[in-house]
Amino acid sequence: MSIAIDPTMMPNAFRHGDNENLPESAKHLIERRGELLAPAYRLFYKRPIEFVRGEGCWLYAVDGTCYLDAYNNVAGVGHANPVVVAAVANQLATLNTHTRYLDGIVLDYAERLLATFPPDLGRVMFTCTGSEANDLGLRVAQAHTGARGVIVTANAYHGVTEATAAASPALGPYRGACDHIRVVRPPLSSSDADGSARFVEEMRGAIASLQRDGHGVAAFLCDTIFSTDGVLPSLPGLTEAIDLVRAAGGLYFADEVQAGFGRVGSAFWGFARHQLVPDMVSMGKPMGNGYPVAALVARPSVLETFSRNNRYFNTFGGSSVAAAAAMATLGEIQSDGFLDRVDRTGAYLQEGLNGLRQHHRTIKDVRGTGLSVGVEIASGTSSASERAERIVNFLADHRVLISATGPQANVLKIRPPLVFGAEQVDLLISTLDQALKAIE
Ligand code: PMP
Repeated sequence: MSIAIDPTMMPNAFRHGDNENLPESAKHLIERRGELLAPAYRLFYKRPIEFVRGEGCWLYAVDGTCYLDAYNNVAGVGHANPVVVAAVANQLATLNTHTRYLDGIVLDYAERLLATFPPDLGRVMFTCTGSEANDLGLRVAQAHTGARGVIVTANAYHGVTEATAAASPALGPYRGACDHIRVVRPPLSSSDADGSARFVEEMRGAIASLQRDGHGVAAFLCDTIFSTDGVLPSLPGLTEAIDLVRAAGGLYFADEVQAGFGRVGSAFWGFARHQLVPDMVSMGKPMGNGYPVAALVARPSVLETFSRNNRYFNTFGGSSVAAAAAMATLGEIQSDGFLDRVDRTGAYLQEGLNGLRQHHRTIKDVRGTGLSVGVEIASGTSSASERAERIVNFLADHRVLISATGPQANVLKIRPPLVFGAEQVDLLISTLDQALKAIE
């Protein structure tokens, strides 16, 4: 068996012994990884790839071949984006200090970032990773509410720290002490009326259970595109569920690490698509286009108790270089026509995928928004997850990179850099067509 799937989803390691057909240099690197890195790491794809360069939505392998990147949501404004590279290099060559000095750069960025939010969300705290932003948010929520309980979706992923791993059922059974965590299953689609009613009922049950066990409700933490839950662009019942959380004294904590910064198109933030205003929002991944910068944005009142009782300093969070990277990235995202193009390319991608669905019964559902798209694979002579894994590996062998996600790992996850265009969609669709023919 090999690992081709989202590492947050798949417990199986790439096993040595699958290596026979790999180039010598890849075999050597795999051997060195085995000797040097903890075995907790997982590799993508049956035939792991060594990249040496990236540009736009293309990645170049060591042998010079060029891969279409339809999966990387970190390099949102394109691999090696020259504007971001120059901003980081210039700032690093000039000054790089932290938030304990007066620094206009981080304030300029904070102002520009907060302008993308509803006015109620008026303060920001900087971190380096999405995990840290979620971890901090949970501390803030617990300080504000005096409660400890956290509700998450059934296959959520929120990070690597002790608190966020506990809130990440996607990690499986060894995620740590989670007495204070309750899970709710989201509905699968907007037409899933039963699933929607069940979701609200499960929220009611989760709240009651946390109260009964003395934890109380600190927050409902949820990824606003539900990426590890199988990519769920519309979630009937979400508003009702959040009303229940708030009535129980808990906060709505939106995880925008996946959905934020234009991934969902011109809505800009995932929560905005649901006409909801969260109490707290975490963000990261594409925020610095590869430079590690992340943040927590919150209502000022929510931050009061935490800020009174704690001082906050994060050495690299909000450094001058992090702010410069984030500012340049945001400038690119907000440049003329950029987000409209994400909307257009996303619509064209879904149109192409729905076209394939007409000819291939393997495709059970196509869903998504902007450039976050899920393609649900049906079972056939083999299980749906095996088929999804075969498709992902076929595409990688044909130089198109995607992955798979969802509770059954049977939803193809297509999440390219936002600079993806119609030409790249055509290549992706024609290669996926070949993959579907090959597995059928
Ligand atoms: N939340 C979500 C929804 C994520 O997808 C991730 C990363 N996959 C994280 C949090 C954690 O972010 P990071 O890896 O930067 O710590």
